[in-house]
Amino acid sequence: MADHTLKIDNARYVLTLDGQRRIIRDASILVEDGRISRVGKAAELAALRADRVIDARRLLVTPGFVNGHMHISYAHVVRGSTVCFVDPGSTKFPDACLQAYEDSGIRVILGECVTDQDAPFKLPRFATKEAIARTTSFVEKWHGRLHGRVRAWAMPFSPETCSAELMQALKRVADERGTALTLHHGSGPKARQEYAARHGRRPTEYLESLGVVGPNVVLAHCLGIDDAEIECLARTRTAVVMCPVTAAKSGRGVPEHGRMPELLAKGVKVALGCDSPNNSNHLDMVRTMNMAAIQYKDARQDLRLIPAEAALEMATVVGAQALNVGDDLGSIEPGKRADLVLFDTERPEWQALFNPVNNLVYNADGRSVHTVVVDGRVVVEDHRQSFVDEGRLFGKVQEIGERLQARTGITFPRSRWPIV
Ligand SMILES: [Zn+2]
Repeated sequence: MADHTLKIDNARYVLTLDGQRRIIRDASILVEDGRISRVGKAAELAALRADRVIDARRLLVTPGFVNGHMHISYAHVVRGSTVCFVDPGSTKFPDACLQAYEDSGIRVILGECVTDQDAPFKLPRFATKEAIARTTSFVEKWHGRLHGRVRAWAMPFSPETCSAELMQALKRVADERGTALTLHHGSGPKARQEYAARHGRRPTEYLESLGVVGPNVVLAHCLGIDDAEIECLARTRTAVVMCPVTAAKSGRGVPEHGRMPELLAKGVKVALGCDSPNNSNHLDMVRTMNMAAIQYKDARQDLRLIPAEAALEMATVVGAQALNVGDDLGSIEPGKRADLVLFDTERPEWQALFNPVNNLVYNADGRSVHTVVVDGRVVVEDHRQSFVDEGRLFGKVQEIGERLQARTGITFPRSRWPIV
């Protein structure tokens, strides 16, 4: 259980991400019943007492990060700065995971991935009616569990693998139940030609013609979209989640197809995602911010693009708005949930520290996360998770992986060099 009151005291810096984007030096934060009640200069809050006090003199505090697209079921174990993630339908047995979500304190947005059309790779395919029924019962079963930390969305895989009827029905499910819908979107020139031939429209215009746009729709990846589609997203207040590390590692052609600066310039809410470990190999939001901040500078040879501040906004306040959790998460302000990340600024990568946002985005990575607080509860402390025996867990994950390979004959790409 969370302490009734918690004080983060004397933090070296607090990056509030509030309306003025204040960075408070020598700051304290008071948490009451899982929510932030005060934030300000340590001297001003010195008289406030709490059940538990964390001495944060060497620490820098940010809001907890939101990860807008993260296929968790084939992910390695998480201990970074993420406090809330969207799993786009890859958790096959959420009942089995509920205890882990409970213990870890994480916020999770789940759904069942459905399709009703042929796909170029193996996806869960159902008759249209069944896909709708499964989504409806999933949302009814899971939305709001663990005191609201679990949310359930509709998750048709993509417009290419789902019929118009299915996507429209799932949008209605999301609308009627006050939840949201996410799908993979944007696939480069070949897919665009196919859309033009089949539907006579651009991919995003096709979604708009079906009514599958709006503030409760989150489109993942969105590479290869054009100006007219960006206008459509801005006009309909449709949100986007981009996965910059996946785009780079998979050779998706960010110079030609990446439109993050234009989306942000038009006011589209863009979140960041780590995707999956076969696409980005890590689930580290700090490294993801770093890639977002450097990728476009190189791609377009323009140092003004995606400043460190914009990358941090996408991982926090703007990303939270994109995922419809902005009322509760994304900034350090009175009334918000107490989801906080405390970075250890006495590690070498933080030296010398003059511009905290630059240090965070360009110098650091998730390994400098010292403490994580979710809902006022400390879940990572002094670089260690408080809810699991890490050594035992890592051994178990390795063993399960080896057994699975032996049983199924499925192997991961082998080393190009001989392992002797
Ligand atoms: Zn995905």
